[in-house]
Amino acid sequence: MTESLATIVAPVVRPGYRRILLKISGEALMGPQSYGLHPPTVARIAGEVKALHDLGVEICMVIGGGNIFRGLQGSAQGMERTTADYMGMLATVMNALALQSALEARKVYTRVISAIPMDQVCEPYIRRRAVRHLEKGRVCIFAAGTGNPYFTTDTAATLRASEMSCEALFKGTQVDGVYDSDPKKNPDARRYDRISYDDVLQKNLKVMDASAIALARDNALPIIVFSLDEPNGLAGVVQGRGRFTIVEPG
Ligand code: UDP
Repeated sequence: MTESLATIVAPVVRPGYRRILLKISGEALMGPQSYGLHPPTVARIAGEVKALHDLGVEICMVIGGGNIFRGLQGSAQGMERTTADYMGMLATVMNALALQSALEARKVYTRVISAIPMDQVCEPYIRRRAVRHLEKGRVCIFAAGTGNPYFTTDTAATLRASEMSCEALFKGTQVDGVYDSDPKKNPDARRYDRISYDDVLQKNLKVMDASAIALARDNALPIIVFSLDEPNGLAGVVQGRGRFTIVEPG
């Protein structure tokens, strides 16, 4: 089904990434359900993160909230947009806490760091403090997106990855890369091994929203799209194994 479009140059993901950011959508935590958190799925993803952490990679995470609430859905139902977006940001905090709990059950120590201060629940975002956590081997889970309405957690992921000097942003999805059309609907869809930011924007490919792609382009932050469903997929892809697409300068 999936002959790759770009075969001239080998993928450039190398072992030796020191610090990465992993972005997962809220829907990745839903498992077979149509809403909310599916504890066995959260546990499986925590296991994937642990396998990477065991390699000594410093890990930042950003999790979406779409399994619980999306601002656009709320505003479509008559809710004021910014209020709906704040509800979406709160949903990401719930997901971050669920993942924290699952990681710490596996003895991977973490901090949930929120763009909206909520002292009783988690830490506020202070960049230097977050860097220190990473240096001490803690996984930093960035919650509440950017803290601003009208943004998405994709943009938050690109922003935090840049701020935290991550070498790449790994976007875990349900497919093993970027395709020229939806591989779940079109059996002839073709997968890219690599693609430029500008091509993603021009072809309107569903990798991340346009503002996230543009921010990654402006900061030369590579985005690696891979499947979260592959056992040990995350640790493999970070070491350059398996199937993925890399989005980078053209
Ligand atoms: N959100 C926001 N600002 C941000 C990040 C997220 O307002 O910086 C809100 C927005 O309403 C969004 C919701 O939080 O719909 C959940 O985030 P997202 O849709 O990015 O989650 P995902 O699709 O990755 O699960």
